[in-house]
Amino acid sequence: MWDGRGDIRLFVEQALAVGAAVGLSPERAHYLRSVLRLSAGAPVHLFNGRDGEWQARLEALGKGWASCALERQVRAQAAEPDLWLAFAPIKRARIDFVAQKATELGVSALWPVFTRLTAVGRVNVARLRANAIEAAEQCGRLSVPEVFAPADFAELLAGWPAERRILLCDESGAGVPIAAALRDGGANPSPWAVMVGPEGGFARDELDRLRKLPIVNAVGLGPRLLRADTAALAALACWQALAGDWRGAHQEASSTIRLGTT
Ligand code: SAH
Repeated sequence: MWDGRGDIRLFVEQALAVGAAVGLSPERAHYLRSVLRLSAGAPVHLFNGRDGEWQARLEALGKGWASCALERQVRAQAAEPDLWLAFAPIKRARIDFVAQKATELGVSALWPVFTRLTAVGRVNVARLRANAIEAAEQCGRLSVPEVFAPADFAELLAGWPAERRILLCDESGAGVPIAAALRDGGANPSPWAVMVGPEGGFARDELDRLRKLPIVNAVGLGPRLLRADTAALAALACWQALAGDWRGAHQEASSTIRLGTT
């Protein structure tokens, strides 16, 4: 497991390789210089979702610009669970919270979906992505979840990949207890998605349509009605524990992904 020993981790888009110099965005440079008060020579870690994690040094740091020199790879890129979260948008502070926490819980993609009873009219995709990046940097992930373009419910189903199972959070009480569903289906190697409705709930016909699909497992999350954000995070945690990467031993995972020691 990544032990978070005070390393400043930064997500960048550029390729990472020995000897490369990587420029940082003006916002990043400002943050490092004015908020963290770093200066040239400070160590940082970089990752891009493809090339593992790299130890680097701030080579130069000016007003609104910064450049890092890469030194060595400290972790190789490793496979991560393929778990999407399809969720009806909720209000601003709570959607930020969902993007951050779902990232910590290891989702590979966030897909905002407008169901019939969704009360929020638009989604700021850039803001969701910024929240996901911040959480990925903080929790030691080697990737940042993708944020897909918001879709309405019909578009979502029309574009749904045939092999991806849906763990449908069904507040009606008709679903199978989530642990039971994942005991049977968790061994299924298919990629999965957790799907959660809006504060107003799924419309009856939406639930009916979903339940009829062979790729859907409708599940219940206990006897209490959860807020949408609670339901999303609870379902993701159950999936990770029963079918995802919480099943492995952390220490073992760490020795296989960490290359070299400091
Ligand atoms: N207003 C709705 C509740 C919506 S809760 C009503 O009164 O019925 C928001 C979403 O969280 C739901 O659409 C569902 O996806 C999920 N959810 C909440 N509680 C749940 C539970 N106990 N089991 C499964 N899903 C739940």
